[in-house]
Amino acid sequence: MSRVFNFSAGPACLPEEVLREAAQEMLDYQGSGMSVMEMSHRGKIYDRIIKETEQDIRELASIPEDYAVLFLQGGATLQFAMAPMNLTKSGKADYIITGHWAKKAAAEAARYTDVKEIASSEDSKFDRIPDLSNLDIRADADFVHVCENNTIYGTQMHSLPDTGGIPLVSDQSSCVFSRPLDIARFGLIYAGAQKNIGPAGLTLVIVRKDLIKTELDEAIPLMLRYDTHIKSGSMHNTPPTYAIYITGKVMKWLKKTGGLKGAQQRNEEKAGLLYDALDKSQLFHSPVKKDSRSLMNVVFTSGDEAVDADFIKGAEERGLLGIKGYRTMGGMRASLYNAMPKAGVEALVSYMTDFERSR
Ligand SMILES: *Cc1c(COP(=O)(O)O)cnc(C)c1O
Repeated sequence: MSRVFNFSAGPACLPEEVLREAAQEMLDYQGSGMSVMEMSHRGKIYDRIIKETEQDIRELASIPEDYAVLFLQGGATLQFAMAPMNLTKSGKADYIITGHWAKKAAAEAARYTDVKEIASSEDSKFDRIPDLSNLDIRADADFVHVCENNTIYGTQMHSLPDTGGIPLVSDQSSCVFSRPLDIARFGLIYAGAQKNIGPAGLTLVIVRKDLIKTELDEAIPLMLRYDTHIKSGSMHNTPPTYAIYITGKVMKWLKKTGGLKGAQQRNEEKAGLLYDALDKSQLFHSPVKKDSRSLMNVVFTSGDEAVDADFIKGAEERGLLGIKGYRTMGGMRASLYNAMPKAGVEALVSYMTDFERSR
């Protein structure tokens, strides 16, 4: 067996330790005689798995009881709609447009509420986080939506906008639990699990319960109401049991390795290695403005399509996979999520140096 370094943007690498443990438990989970995949979600054993996972999430991010932690499906994409459907009271929401996903979120929200774009970096092709000071936030907006880490463009907010008490709704799909979280700053956080915390199929939602509208249009399916999932403990129907189980293991791994502070230290170190190499390189550069650089997704290019293609091919031969940039972006993108070991980044940097030298 040989494992590669997988720099894919998502689904992405998971801690090897987690995969080994899951493999060991595959046929017989802790003496149950069956796999977690095969057991009832309403049984005693699974009940413990889901409750412990929630508890570990709460501990890791210090999430108090007035926030619900929900295990949903439909990806971050469904949250583009569910958030405005469930949080709209005055019927206005302000969006900060920082890339592809933020645009999608705003477009979907516009079906349910009056959306205003209060900042955007589209003019500079999303190469930065726009200026977040002096935002023209409407006083009666239900929420301000941000996408904190822009997976495709490789930019990240390193501080949150001051919304003057208006709840912040944050798409954290590609940065959730990569650094400590000040939960009080948020009304709602959502994240598809498949980038930083688990397998595809699970969407994590953390929401301040008092913000949820309870008088919703009768036509809205129960599955799309947060209150349904709160009441049923994420068990209105069969939850994505295996994805929750693996995410639970990732949470235990995070706790063991220094919590979110530990993750942040490792992520800063890893991204630092790669950005340093890019800053020194004569061949490659990052198109992202320095103060907006993402610690999670490092986008770079030689500026020459043929050279980039050569580089990607050579990387694959060395077991460095998934570094091709997003289809509309070209170039390279190395995703350095929590589970990417430092050795992977070192191998990539060493290959970059060799590649440049050999030209
Ligand atoms: C991947 C991604 C999405 C889409 O997630 P799905 O789970 O596939 O719906 C949304 N937002 C961001 C920031 C992403 O990185």
